[in-house]
Amino acid sequence: MNQPANPASPTRRTPIAFVGHGAPLIALDAEKGAPLRAWGEALGRPRAVLALSAHWERAPLTSGATETRPLVYDFGGFPRALYEVQYPAPGAPRLADRVEGLLGVPMPRSARGLDHGVWTPLVHLFPDASVPVLQVSLPSSDGARALFALGQRLAPLRDEGVLLLCSGNVTHNLGAVDFAGTSAPPRWAQDFDEWTRDTLARSDWDALLDYESRAPRYRASHPTDDHWLPLLVAAGAASVAPTTTRFPVEGWEFGSLSRRSVEFA
Ligand code: ZN
Repeated sequence: MNQPANPASPTRRTPIAFVGHGAPLIALDAEKGAPLRAWGEALGRPRAVLALSAHWERAPLTSGATETRPLVYDFGGFPRALYEVQYPAPGAPRLADRVEGLLGVPMPRSARGLDHGVWTPLVHLFPDASVPVLQVSLPSSDGARALFALGQRLAPLRDEGVLLLCSGNVTHNLGAVDFAGTSAPPRWAQDFDEWTRDTLARSDWDALLDYESRAPRYRASHPTDDHWLPLLVAAGAASVAPTTTRFPVEGWEFGSLSRRSVEFA
């Protein structure tokens, strides 16, 4: 007997990911990377990854390399081993064409390789580097609402097996980082992290976009906007359809740096 068809079974959409990438050394840290590995295993193997990170801000939205290129080691003062990490993911030229089609305008192209905002989580999420990856720039100067709208434009990629991976941090105040890593997270960081968690869990996109007036201690948590804005692209993509939100990574490092990562499914 054939199994009856299940008309209620929806097409499985690929989740949308926001990853708190934290400090670059996570690439070499199996313990800190463990929840990312577990998350990657739960995600399965997407057809491709479309990534953007706090560490490449450029408007208009620009494509990085569409073939395998050396990684960008965009940091200084770390152990040599970090500069020897390789992640030779295949390029995704057809995805670049598809993104351009969704944007509806010509997209500038560059040969830039993946930066550490992208490759430090990817070495844990998809360790065999077999999933094609395209990094595009974060057009942060367009502003928060435009970035949310950008996510909405990219949302159809979910139905095409593409994982949108937006990389920043829920709190990111380098002046307040405790490099000894021994202090408890300060109250301002906890308050902002909790507000973000609760706002995302309610899918309250209006509140999220009004973060400058509604969130507690935004400027303490983000003296500059770069690590916050990638979350708005992910949220925009999530906002197109009803979504469930979970947090595959939580906790803190270096005192005030939230490790919170978000999956919208
Ligand atoms: Zn960063």
